[in-house]
Amino acid sequence: MSKFLNKQLQKLESYTPGEQPQDKRYVKLNTNESPYPPSDNVIKAINEAEIKDLRLYCDPECKILRKTLADCYGVKPENVFLSNGSDDILNFSFMAYGNKGVAFADITYGFYSVFAELYGLETEIIPLKPDFTIDTDRFCGLNKLIVIANPNAPTGIELPLEEIEKIIVSNKESVVLIDEAYVDFGGTSAVSLTEKYDNLLVVATFSKSRSMAGARLGFAVGNKELIMDLEKIKYSTNPYNINRLTQIAGTKAIEENGYYMNNCQKITRTREYTVKELEKLGFRILPSKANFIFAESDKIGGNELYIKLKEKGVLVRHFEKPRISNFNRITIGSQEEMETFILAVKNILGENL
Ligand SMILES: *Cc1c(COP(=O)(O)O)cnc(C)c1O
Repeated sequence: MSKFLNKQLQKLESYTPGEQPQDKRYVKLNTNESPYPPSDNVIKAINEAEIKDLRLYCDPECKILRKTLADCYGVKPENVFLSNGSDDILNFSFMAYGNKGVAFADITYGFYSVFAELYGLETEIIPLKPDFTIDTDRFCGLNKLIVIANPNAPTGIELPLEEIEKIIVSNKESVVLIDEAYVDFGGTSAVSLTEKYDNLLVVATFSKSRSMAGARLGFAVGNKELIMDLEKIKYSTNPYNINRLTQIAGTKAIEENGYYMNNCQKITRTREYTVKELEKLGFRILPSKANFIFAESDKIGGNELYIKLKEKGVLVRHFEKPRISNFNRITIGSQEEMETFILAVKNILGENL
């Protein structure tokens, strides 16, 4: 750190992304990526002609992608905002709407607290209930920026849409941001409520269910005025925020939405298999509607299991945090990957006897 960095940033604790090790090939179950590749037509669309066109700027309005996405979600293009990964929308939203403070759960996506600190926002941390569900009542009537991941991460637990609606209705003077990064794995989207409520912003990503984590594409759906706020920040920071190849890949992916939704169903089935196998081994698993599960065992500590799995070439995510240090978050990969994972767990538990 240089002596020139401003005071606020000097003490900022930045986000720690999951490991992306390059030393060897792991069974990678630590960052919730899809085990399946993009669809054939996405791959074909990124062709030599498009690569040659990289000399040209991309469309800052993302007209084609925006229209395609709007049609898919049954909204108008003016209700859709596109970004370089959904983290960018979270960033913009904390910047735009956090002035009266922000509230989020104690156990949730780690980036929320980073953005709150980055913008020096007054922050209210609302503990999950003992069963790790969201405490709806405590989110009501705050009239601060409310941020809820639904399904939540890293628990995987879904908050029913009626509860979400209660929170929206009781916070009419502030924005309620629902982060739906994992909604395609069995959750219910709040997009249908965006027409009814001018304070609801739904945020989603192509990183998980649409196999495009490395292309960086996120989007928000909301009232036209909210979308204009986000556009204003975008045009004040980085108008060309989505590169040409990502715009093409994203459009094709939506045109072939069936392929991706089918993959989500495969992952959901593999999730149920994994849960059953882990339960047989005595694990407790929180009820997940995401492409990961959150599991603990009284036979082995969370950190120890994480380390021993890594030695065996399987990466999962461990958070050394109060309430959840005995858990690991395990991404659902392909059926074969999960069989490898289960075998590794069995071996580790066997060695521990
Ligand atoms: C992965 C994730 C995101 C960010 O995804 P991007 O890759 O930036 O689109 C946002 N919220 C949650 C809860 C996530 O797990």
